[in-house]
Amino acid sequence: MIRFFVDFDGTVTTEDVVDLVLDRFAAAEWKSVEKEWAEGKIGSRECLSRQVALVRAGREDMEKLLSEVRIDPYFQEFLRTASAFAIPVAIVSDGFDKVIHEILRRSVAPLLLEKLPVFCNRLEWNGERPTALFAGDGTCAHGCANCKPAVIDSLRKPGDFVLFAGDGLSDRFAAETADLTFAKDKLLGFCRERGLRHTEYKNFNDLIRWMRSGDFSLVQAGHAARV
Ligand SMILES: [Mg+2]
Ligand SMILES: [Zn+2]
Repeated sequence: MIRFFVDFDGTVTTEDVVDLVLDRFAAAEWKSVEKEWAEGKIGSRECLSRQVALVRAGREDMEKLLSEVRIDPYFQEFLRTASAFAIPVAIVSDGFDKVIHEILRRSVAPLLLEKLPVFCNRLEWNGERPTALFAGDGTCAHGCANCKPAVIDSLRKPGDFVLFAGDGLSDRFAAETADLTFAKDKLLGFCRERGLRHTEYKNFNDLIRWMRSGDFSLVQAGHAARV
């Protein structure tokens, strides 16, 4: 079976919502923590727990900010197309449940959301202080908050062909485990550098076109021949 895994921040949404929240509600120090993570000095687990500790915002403040967030205009159509081809789609994110569910609830039809599992971290509030609760057990080699390749590998069945779509450095380990990655922005550079099997994309319309194209049938045929 072909399975699609999709990053959330900067992939489903047009901007990185975690960065947006930090920019609005965290002490400026969050940027130096981000730099340590981008340079590979710390994993996303340490990065996010230090950054969330710098946030001062109630749940309502955050929900208000989320109303400004836009998603890729083709994301719903992408879900419909994948469903028509019987390709399961899952979101795998190092972001937070309340944020992701709130944005999806506003932008995607309930029938499509029912079929869209979301694997991510959690946020809980104590007044103005949110706390991060991480999905992973903290044992992965990358120091992830929510280890994307571990999620993918836990759902992948023998013979599956795994597609992944993402945009950033938090997707690099997922791209290493996927059979084919749709990449843009920083993830595109990483896939090129590492020689990973990838296709450049701009938005979900490119993925819809790919599913409707011959390339897709070729993958399916090649896949069927292999299993
Ligand atoms: Mg991203
Ligand atoms: Zn990991």
